[in-house]
Amino acid sequence: MNFHIMTLFPDMVEQGLKTSIIGRAEAKGLLSIDAVNIRDYAFNKHQSVDDYPYGGGAGMLMQAEPVFQCYEAVCQKTKASKEGKRPRLVYLSPQGRTFNQEMAEELAKEDELILLCGHYEGIDERVLEEIVTDYVSIGDYVLTGGELAAMVMIDAISRLVPGVLHNDVSAEFESFQDHLLEYPQYSRPETWHGKQVPPILLSGHHANIEKWRREQSIIRTAENRPDLLEKAELTEKEQKFLEE
Ligand code: SAM
Repeated sequence: MNFHIMTLFPDMVEQGLKTSIIGRAEAKGLLSIDAVNIRDYAFNKHQSVDDYPYGGGAGMLMQAEPVFQCYEAVCQKTKASKEGKRPRLVYLSPQGRTFNQEMAEELAKEDELILLCGHYEGIDERVLEEIVTDYVSIGDYVLTGGELAAMVMIDAISRLVPGVLHNDVSAEFESFQDHLLEYPQYSRPETWHGKQVPPILLSGHHANIEKWRREQSIIRTAENRPDLLEKAELTEKEQKFLEE
């Protein structure tokens, strides 16, 4: 999967992502992270890319033309453009649809994605109208720029790309699968600070372990995220267990 990030801070994105699991996946050729500096497409000698908003108001706005020129340059590198199609472009914005695991799974099916990071008070609406296909927020709060949001998305999507995680199974059974949170997990030693690993996990009885894990997932979801349970498919027995 190829990520193209349009940003005023390419170092921030590259340094943040080219470490650990995502960095290793890139080294293995499973994905690529191409951060492009919008400032390189400024059209004045001071390389400024922002100006005052019409109608007044606080702060500066990123101008349409440098963003558009940067977009055209990025498009040249995309498979979609080579096939005469419009590439998928996500504008990170607090006004977008809230990012979640379901969206990460959907986007992980793409071959490539362009992510546009705003700064200051945002970006001139006219260029957004022309190039954006998806508006995505990472939550109901306002960040200073879209870079951290883009990194969150890239991280969550990348770990779903086959081969990125050491063991693909670890992406299959975890929080938000089936609208449940993951069960508690334990590693060695068996006793730590006087706390024992639940004996069932040492029993070697796989069916019982699975049953216990499923119950724990349901309990945890009911305690921490009851809103998720509305979509979870529970058996009649599990529904009763929850009501007890
Ligand atoms: N004036 C804008 C508004 O009220 O909608 C907020 C601009 S914000 C200070 C600057 C940039 O940060 C935005 O253009 C966007 O790219 C990014 N950003 C801020 N909060 C975000 C969020 N919750 N999710 C995704 N991107 C966000």
